[in-house]
Amino acid sequence: MPTIFSKIIAKELPSEMVYQDDLVTAFKDINPLAPVHILIVPNKEIATVDDVEVDDEPILGRMFTVAKKVARDLGIAESGYRLIVNCKQDGGQEVYHLHMHLVGGRRLGRMLAKKED
Ligand code: 5GP
Repeated sequence: MPTIFSKIIAKELPSEMVYQDDLVTAFKDINPLAPVHILIVPNKEIATVDDVEVDDEPILGRMFTVAKKVARDLGIAESGYRLIVNCKQDGGQEVYHLHMHLVGGRRLGRMLAKKED
């Protein structure tokens, strides 16, 4: 199912793109949660982590090498950053086109908020 990310990848919708190659596209999140917040997205429409296949491994590997490159380009490689992939409802996924969040530029704190009792 095409999502808004497919249109961004195809440049049919505007975005602040920071990287694109034959396998992945990276662009600034429209609602950044930190000074650096980039989405790294496969050009292929893969809905969620649960839809990933063995044949997709080159794409998944590229997402990490592009994360490293973009983090270096944007000056947060030394201070560090977090990579987040949300999956489906409990994971908090809103856009059903697989994507990796690259977040940094400030101290990010705990990995997860404590569960509210
Ligand atoms: P998720 O919650 O699915 O892991 O993350 C989806 C992310 O996509 C959110 O952080 C949201 O701000 C971002 N987003 C949603 N629509 C757009 C858009 O049209 N353009 C950009 N650049 N980011 C978007």
